[in-house]
Order: sequence, then C-alpha cells, then structure tokens
Amino acid sequence: MKTIGIIGGGQLGRMLAMAAARLNLRTVILEPQADCPAAQTATRQIVGAYDDDQALDALAAACDLVTYEFENVPVAAAARLARSLPVFPPPKALEVAQDRVTEKRFLNACGLETARFHAVDSLADLKAALAAFGGQGVLKTRRLGYDGKGQHVFRDDADDPAAVYAALGAVPLILESFVRFEREISIIAARGQDGSVLCFDPAENVHRNGILATSTVPAALPADLAESARAAATAIVDALDYVGVIGVEFFATSDGGLAVNEIAPRVHNSGHWTEAACVVSQFEQHMRAVAGLPLGDPSRHSDCIMHNLIGDEIDQVPAWLAKPRTLVHLYGKAEARPGRKMGHVTTLR
Ligand code: AMP
Repeated sequence: MKTIGIIGGGQLGRMLAMAAARLNLRTVILEPQADCPAAQTATRQIVGAYDDDQALDALAAACDLVTYEFENVPVAAAARLARSLPVFPPPKALEVAQDRVTEKRFLNACGLETARFHAVDSLADLKAALAAFGGQGVLKTRRLGYDGKGQHVFRDDADDPAAVYAALGAVPLILESFVRFEREISIIAARGQDGSVLCFDPAENVHRNGILATSTVPAALPADLAESARAAATAIVDALDYVGVIGVEFFATSDGGLAVNEIAPRVHNSGHWTEAACVVSQFEQHMRAVAGLPLGDPSRHSDCIMHNLIGDEIDQVPAWLAKPRTLVHLYGKAEARPGRKMGHVTTLR
C-alpha cells in the first residue's frame, strides 16, 4: 500500500485524500494549521510549516512519494524532498506557475498565445507599459496573487498610475494587455508517468469578484476551439515532463482565438464538476497519475453546472441538499468568512 504525501491542507488536499483512500492509497498532509480540511479525511497530518526542514524530512520518511495541492509550495522545499523521493508534479512546474512573467514566457515558448505583457519594477515601467497598451491593462503582482487579489484594472485614464503603483508596487508586478474575451474556459488535463495525456472536457467559467462562481460543461465553444484547448494543455504538460493533473485557464477571445490566462499545477476548482459528471474525477486522476496507476477514462456522462459556495452561501446548503441530481461537497471549515470557499455543489442536467 503506497503512502502519498500532500503538501497543503485545504479543500483540494481533502478531496485528493478522499479519492486516494478508495484506491487503497494512504495520505499524509503537511500543513501548519491543525485539523485543517485535508487532515479531516487523510490518514495522518504532520503539523509544520511548508519550509520547515524537520517537517519536510518527517514527510519524506513517512511517504513513498510527495505531491501538492497549491502552487505556492516553496521551490526549495520541493527540491529538498526530490532529493530523497519522487515529487509529482515536477518542481519545475512550481517555478513556472509561481511567477506570472516566467509563466507567460514559458507559454509563449510553447507556441501559445497569452495577453501581451511587460514586467513592471518601477513607476516609470508602469507608465511606459500603460502607454504601450493605450492606457488600458491589468496590473498584477508577479507572485502570490490568487482569486483576483493583488490586481488592478486600468480601463481608461481615470486611474492615477502613481497611486496604484504606491498601493501595489512594493513587489515585482506585471502589466497585461486587457484581453477582450467572449468567455473564460479551462481544461483539466492529466499526464501519466508513461507520458500519456488525457483531458477532461473544457468547462466554461464565470468569475464574480475575481473568484470562480460557476463552471458549466459543456462550454459553449466551437469544436475547433475545444480541440485547440486540449492541444494547448497537452503541449504544456509535455514541455514540463509533467506527472499529475493540471488546470489551464483560457480566454476565448472576441476574435475567435484562445489565449492562456494561467496554469495551476494541481487539481483545480474548475474541475470539481468531474466528481459528479465523470466516473473518474480529477482527484482520482491525479492520484492515479502520481501513484503510477493507469489513468482513468475522462469522458463525461452528463452535462452539469458546478456552483461554488462562497462565504455565507454555505447557509443555502439545506436547499441544495433537497435538489435532485445534485452532489453537495463541503470542506469542513469552521468559519464562513466573506470570499472564503466553503464548499461546492454540482447539478447534473
Ligand atoms: P487571474 O488572477 O489572472 O486568474 O485573474 C482573475 C480574473 O480577472 C480572470 O479570471 C479574468 O476574468 C480577469 N482578467 C485577468 N487578466 C485579464 C486580462 N489580461 N484581460 C482581461 N481580463 C483579465
């Protein structure tokens, strides 16, 4: 029976641990917060910081291999573990995904479209980049941004670059050109240890306040664009010599093309629908990949819509539980703060 270490104790780790248990795989969570969502479903938790050498060595001693459930795992921690046991996805995927400039350069080198971009390290850089993009653009922190945090949208001349820079500019930034898109979609792809790649169907995503609100499958997308999205995800995982599940987010642009927004080297919120509408979920698929088991059939047996339950939307659970063809999944978080993901529900159509 293999034991798989998971760095990170949130809801993604929780769902990975649940999928692992069904395949007779044990899981050990490394997470500083005791009784975290993942620890509630895993075999064991090591309470410790992600960069604590002692905790990392204890994780390595307890496991056959290590994976992770968030992309901001310190690269040095992954590298330390990789000296004594396999780490999947490869630490290179963390390096690429942790910095939006590195990520876009990597995507462009794979031949994939992204928003145009400039690295911004000073107010002068910001002014020059805004001028290049006609005064519009999305300013983001290069590292550690998520759910729309650490971002500012320049729509016209109304915003004072100096004030925005003062608010965000203590850290390296990127200005992206403003992408006019028809819809946002994502692909969840998996690559096995033998290099085989399988993709779930593209989902169409709606964000509210920068946070994913719903994923609908099938996405309203022409067949050739869906195929391009699969091809893009395949090019990315091949280039990274990847093992595991990855989430790739795209803009379907107004001119009929696709631009990659970002990659997440882990299971992804926009793939939660797979647990209800596919026989093998993204969580099981990831565990199969990292454990060296054959990948599962990613085909979809039902159309569906997944709703995130954010903050006090957790209060709607009784109504969701009463709905037919609806799978409710809660994350075991004690406190419902605004913007906090508390659970999700998937309704089959
Ligand atoms: P991100 O944190 O990069 O996923 O951005 C959060 C959301 O902001 C995206 O899902 C889009 O809705 C929007 N957004 C991000 N970057 C751009 C861009 N360059 N152009 C237009 N909209 C964007």
